[in-house]
Amino acid sequence: MSQKKNNMEDVLSNIKNAPIDPKQLAPDSKFRFKCHKDVPCFNKCCSELDIFLTPYDILRMKNALNMTSSEFLDKYTETVILEKTQLPFIRLKMEESGQCRFVTEEGCKIYTDRPLACRYYPLGFGVMQSSKVEGSDFYFLIQEDHCKGFEEESEWNVQEWRDDQGISDYDDMNKDWVDIIIKKKANPDMSPDERSKNLFFLGSYDIDSFKPFVFESRFFEVFDITEDEIDLIKNDEDELLRFAQRWLLFVLYKEPTMALKEA
Ligand code: SF4
Ligand code: SF4
Repeated sequence: MSQKKNNMEDVLSNIKNAPIDPKQLAPDSKFRFKCHKDVPCFNKCCSELDIFLTPYDILRMKNALNMTSSEFLDKYTETVILEKTQLPFIRLKMEESGQCRFVTEEGCKIYTDRPLACRYYPLGFGVMQSSKVEGSDFYFLIQEDHCKGFEEESEWNVQEWRDDQGISDYDDMNKDWVDIIIKKKANPDMSPDERSKNLFFLGSYDIDSFKPFVFESRFFEVFDITEDEIDLIKNDEDELLRFAQRWLLFVLYKEPTMALKEA
C-alpha cells in the first residue's frame, strides 16, 4: 500500500484542502479502505502535501536514509513557526513539481519508516488533552475524490487500522512531546523566547546534535542522572529521544521529569 496522507499541521493533525468527513470516529468505528499497487490512483496521493513530522518520524527517516538528523533536516525539511503555539515545527519539503521526494514508481521508498501522517491516511486525528489520558484522541475520515481505496472491499475499524499501521509505537515515542505542545496551547499568552524555541528544536528534532549536547558537556554535572540511565541513553537512540522529551518538559515547564544535582 503506498500509504500517504495530507497534512499534519498543528502536529496534532489538521488537514488543509482536503474533504474531511466531519463525523468524528471512535476506535471501533468502521470504514472501507485498501491501498495497493493495482489501484488506478496508485501514488497520486503522494504529492501536494503538507506533512508535518514528529520527533520519532525524523529519527526513523534519517536512519532509513543513513543520514544524521541535521543532514536530514537541512536536505528534506523546512521549519515553520505555527501561530497557535509559536513553536518550531518541521514540514517535509516537496519537489518543485509538488511530488513528495520519497515517491517512486514502486511506491514510497521509505515505506517501512514512512511518517506518522502517511501511516494514518485516510484517517485524520487530533488530541484534545494530555496524550497520557485515555480517550483524549479522536479521528475522522479524509475522503478525497481521487482516492479509489474507498471502493475496495477491506473493512477496518480505527483501532485495527492503527494496529496495522504500527501507530502505537509512534504514540509511545512522541507522547511527552505531544504533551509539551498541548501545554503550550493551554497557555496561548505565553510566548516562547528564542532560547526556548532553540531548546525545543534541539530536543525534539535534532537527536544527533542533542547527543553531544548531553555527552560532551557538563550536562551530567548539572543533572542528577543515574549511571544506568546514562548507559541506556548512550546506547539506545530511542531512549535518548524519550530522555530529550523529558528534559524539555523540565527546562520548558519545570515538570519534575528530571532533577538537578544538589550544589
Ligand atoms: S513519505 Fe512516502 S508515503 Fe508519505 S507522502 Fe512521501 S512517498 Fe508518500
Ligand atoms: S489515492 Fe488512496 S488508494 Fe490511491 S494510492 Fe493513494 S491512498 Fe492508495
